[in-house]
Amino acid sequence: MLTIQDGQCGTCAHFGADDAGSEKLIQIRITHQAPPDVVEPCGHPENAPRDLKVSPVSTCAGYTPANVA
Ligand code: SF4
Repeated sequence: MLTIQDGQCGTCAHFGADDAGSEKLIQIRITHQAPPDVVEPCGHPENAPRDLKVSPVSTCAGYTPANVA
């Protein structure tokens, strides 16, 4: 399992793009853990046109903390 630090994609509101509300991604945000093969599209307006795909432990300057219900 990958351990996700604050500031990394797994806890970013843009991780998973349109699928960001899925149970899988919510669990990643809550537990800060993800399987090593998880790769998701980034929905940030500046990254999405490039079809950027990121792992939960990637990051960029557009990081926006996701709300954890
Ligand atoms: S690449 Fe940047 S904007 Fe996209 S999910 Fe990761 S931290 Fe968020």
